[in-house]
Amino acid sequence: LVAPSEIFGEGRVNSRGFDLTDARTLSMIEAARDITVPDAGPITVGPASGTARDVLNPADGTVVAQVTEADEACVTAAIDAAAPWDATPEERAEVLRRAADLYEANFGPFFAVLAREAGKSLLDAVGELREAVDFLRYYANEGARREDAARGIFTAISPWNFPLAIFTGQISAALAAGNGVLAKPAEQTGLTAAMAVRLLHEAGVPASALQLLPGDGRVGAMLTGSGKVQGVAFTGSTETAQTICRAMAEVMDPGAPLIAETGGLNAMIVDSTALPEQAVRDIVASAFQSAGQRCSALRCLYVQEDVAPGMIEMIRGAMDELTVGNPWYLSTDVGPVIDEEARAGIAEYIEAARAEGRLLHALDTPHGGTFIAPTLLQVGGIEEMEREIFGPVLHVATFKGKDLGKVIARINATGYGLTFGLHTRIDTRVQEVTDAIHAGNLYVNRNQIGAIVGSQPFGGEGLSGTGPKAGGPNYLDRFRAAPAPHAGT
Ligand code: GLU
Repeated sequence: LVAPSEIFGEGRVNSRGFDLTDARTLSMIEAARDITVPDAGPITVGPASGTARDVLNPADGTVVAQVTEADEACVTAAIDAAAPWDATPEERAEVLRRAADLYEANFGPFFAVLAREAGKSLLDAVGELREAVDFLRYYANEGARREDAARGIFTAISPWNFPLAIFTGQISAALAAGNGVLAKPAEQTGLTAAMAVRLLHEAGVPASALQLLPGDGRVGAMLTGSGKVQGVAFTGSTETAQTICRAMAEVMDPGAPLIAETGGLNAMIVDSTALPEQAVRDIVASAFQSAGQRCSALRCLYVQEDVAPGMIEMIRGAMDELTVGNPWYLSTDVGPVIDEEARAGIAEYIEAARAEGRLLHALDTPHGGTFIAPTLLQVGGIEEMEREIFGPVLHVATFKGKDLGKVIARINATGYGLTFGLHTRIDTRVQEVTDAIHAGNLYVNRNQIGAIVGSQPFGGEGLSGTGPKAGGPNYLDRFRAAPAPHAGT
């Protein structure tokens, strides 16, 4: 194997669409090919008691591991034992940097588990590990240059779509600010979380400052309904964020922060001056990479009418180049969706669209596993989309040049505001559209996924989240009792 430090360099890196030309990414993937899942037997993490849940491999339905989920007694004991991290900011930063080194050194086992538990393609797994490491180092540095002002205990509730990166981002921010953390990962991805927590403890995070409580929404409800918790970091659906907000209002101080990153109905506008080859590449990556299971993913594409037929033909062709299959193969672009419930919901949605004659293109679905093949649907406009379909489904609408303002108004009217993409070669249009659109992350003439810690803080407005943006300079202050001076914005 190549030494991890050689492969990773200094971090601050990410996957770029389906572009496999990055030599470091390729060498890391090559190095990981022979790795098998470590310790696939039953594991017990965090809780002393509870029921065992099978962790399934979405690509073939086999049992990857068993995770013991926390019962009520266990959650209560964890809350009682939780304590802020008693160390200086620099000591904490050192421990988090050590954790980053340990994550890098364990890239093989992480890739294996991310592929088998979360259905991540190897390219996605590389991007995810790098992002997790970037979060650890970034928040370590941010914490080290602030005075101590921990709030106390934070609950961190994280999603399955970035089971390592978002899980680690929430926890490391809370820890860097000196808080204790009660971490509840998504029930589908408890094994990745357990591996991460093991390494964080090994790096020197005290057991009382970081406790893992695997389980479903009931565990989350116990944690957000506890008066001993001073704040919550959450990534998931807008509805769950609203439920958490109400639960917190019952038991916590009015000032207790809820830092929520939620859903989106993300659009891209491609006008008739866009460079078609570049636009198509970015459309396909934005919609289908990670099997569309990113909050940032493109859901509704608007193409200017005059160029739409050619552009749609090119998108079809680019879709045909994608390989859907087992995420463990280097050739795979699109893996399965997370579980059978997700698959069935998306399949039903596609079927209804097909019945209405709106299916423009779909790839073949592999047998076995919970696969949804990349699908292109026609839609009149974003206002016809009632909810976020969290999978590889792209909707395409056309617009007349004179209606650009109306299109932007409709996109804004969804109430969401996470990512937005624009492809144009008219400079004044870039300014015009970026001024008018409501979105947290706006991308021009590139894809709209894969925000990079430190240089592209990530987060939305409206129904898409509360802010502050993850991976940005204001994020840590929300985990602190008092805002601290910091440079930059
Ligand atoms: N930060 C990720 C990106 O920029 C998306 C995170 C999410 O899906 O919650 O693609």
